[in-house]
Amino acid sequence: MNEEHSRELYDRALSVLPGGVNSAVRAAIEPYPFFVRKGEGGHVVDADGNRYIDWVMGLGPLLLGHDLPEPVQAGIQRKASEGPMYGTPTEVEVDLAEFVVRHVPSVEKIRFVNSGTEATTSAVRLARGYTGRNKIVVMQGGYHGAQESTLVEGDAENPRPSSAGIPQSFSEHTLPVPFNDEEAIREVFEKHGDDIAAVLTEPILGNYGIVYPEDGYHEFLREITDDHGALLIFDEVITGFRVGGLGCAQSEFGVTPDLTTFGKIVGGGFPVGAIGGRAEIIEQFAPTGDVFQAGTFSGHPVTMAAGLETLKFAAENDVYDHVNDLGDRLRRGLTDIVADQAPSYTVTGTDSMFKVIFTREGPGKDELDGQCEAGSRQDPDCPRYEYSPKNAADVKNADTERWRRLFWGRMKEQGIFLSQNQFECQFVSYGHTEEDVDRTLEAYKNAL
Ligand code: PMP
Repeated sequence: MNEEHSRELYDRALSVLPGGVNSAVRAAIEPYPFFVRKGEGGHVVDADGNRYIDWVMGLGPLLLGHDLPEPVQAGIQRKASEGPMYGTPTEVEVDLAEFVVRHVPSVEKIRFVNSGTEATTSAVRLARGYTGRNKIVVMQGGYHGAQESTLVEGDAENPRPSSAGIPQSFSEHTLPVPFNDEEAIREVFEKHGDDIAAVLTEPILGNYGIVYPEDGYHEFLREITDDHGALLIFDEVITGFRVGGLGCAQSEFGVTPDLTTFGKIVGGGFPVGAIGGRAEIIEQFAPTGDVFQAGTFSGHPVTMAAGLETLKFAAENDVYDHVNDLGDRLRRGLTDIVADQAPSYTVTGTDSMFKVIFTREGPGKDELDGQCEAGSRQDPDCPRYEYSPKNAADVKNADTERWRRLFWGRMKEQGIFLSQNQFECQFVSYGHTEEDVDRTLEAYKNAL
C-alpha cells in the first residue's frame, strides 16, 4: 500500500502539531495515521488514493455516512452562505431544540454547546449548582470528554487524576465505581449520600469496548439517586440518536434521567454538544438561573441546520432500520467467525455499534450449536452471555498490543478502517452496504 503522501503530511504535521494531531487518539495509528482526502458513502479515500471501508465514521457523528443527502447538504450550504453566525439567536436553534424535546423522553429544555466535553462539563456544574452538593459518581472505564471532573481513575476510596495538570483536590469530588455493580453504588451513597450531586454514566459504555448494562441496572440507578436527592445524568454523546433511534438509549431502557448530555449525531457532523433535561433544572443555567454557562459558537446556525436536517432525514427514511440491520449482520457474522476461529474474542455492541475485543476463552461453535442465536450475547440464557464484559475490569484484559497487530495492521492492509484502539467502538452508517459488511467479515476471517 503506497502511503507516501500521508507520510509527508505526517512529517509536516509533526513539526507544527503536538504528536502530529489535534486529538490524542488519532496518533494511536502506527507508524503514522493516514490522512484522509475525502469520504464517499461508507468509505474514505486517503491522500495517496487508497480506499477504506470506514467503520470509524468520525468517531460517531456520521449517522448518514459521508455522502449527505440533498436536504442536509442544502440546509448546511444555505446557512453557511447567509453568513456563518451572528452572536444573536436564530430560528434554526429553536427548530432543533423543539425536535429534540419532541423525541427524547427526558428533555423538556435544552442548551446547545460545542462539544461533548463542554456538555458534560456544563452538566456537572449544573448538577452541583442545582443540588448544592459537590461529588459526582462516575463509572470506571466511562468517558465524558477531556474535562477536569471526569478525567479521574482509581476507585471511590482513592480517586486520582488520570491526566497531568489536574489537581488531586479536584479529583476528590469524583467517585469512580465499577459499572453494573449495585453494591458499589450503595456503598458510595451510604458514605457520601448527602454530598452526591449526580451519578453520571453512559447508558452503554461506548469508550471501553462496549459494555451493556445488566437488566435492571439503570432502574436501580434511577431509584437510588431519587432516594438520595441526587440527579441521574445519562451521557448520550455516543448513544444519542443512535441506540433506540430518535428516542435515544433512554427510551430503549425505559429509564428517564434528570439530565442528558448529547454530542456527535445531533450536530450532523459539525462541532456540537447539548445538555437537556427537566425544565426546572435546565433553567438553573444563566440567564434564568445562576449556574454560569455561555459560548460564542453555541447553537451555531450551520451546526444546528446540519443536526436538524440529519434528524429529520432519519425520521422520514429507513435510516435506523438500515444501520441496525447491517449492525446485526455484522455482529452475527463476527460471532460465527469468532466461535469458529477464535473463541477468546468477544463480539459486543447493539444497534449500529460493534466491536470485537479480546476477553478470555469462551465456548466454541460446537458447544454452542442450537443453544442461542448468533450475536445474542445480551441474552442471559445464551452460554456466551457469561463471557461478555460486564465492567471495565473485564475489558482491561483486552490485550491492546494484540489488537493493534491483528485488527489494526491486518485489517488496514485489507482496506478496512477500524477504530484506533482496543477500546473505542465502531459505527455503521446509512452509507454502508451489505457488500461492505460482507467484505469486512471476509477480512476479519483472514485476520483471525
Ligand atoms: N462523552 C462521551 C460518552 C463520549 O464518547 C465523548 C467523546 N467520544 C465525549 C463525552 C466527549 O465528546 P467530545 O469529544 O465531542 O468533546
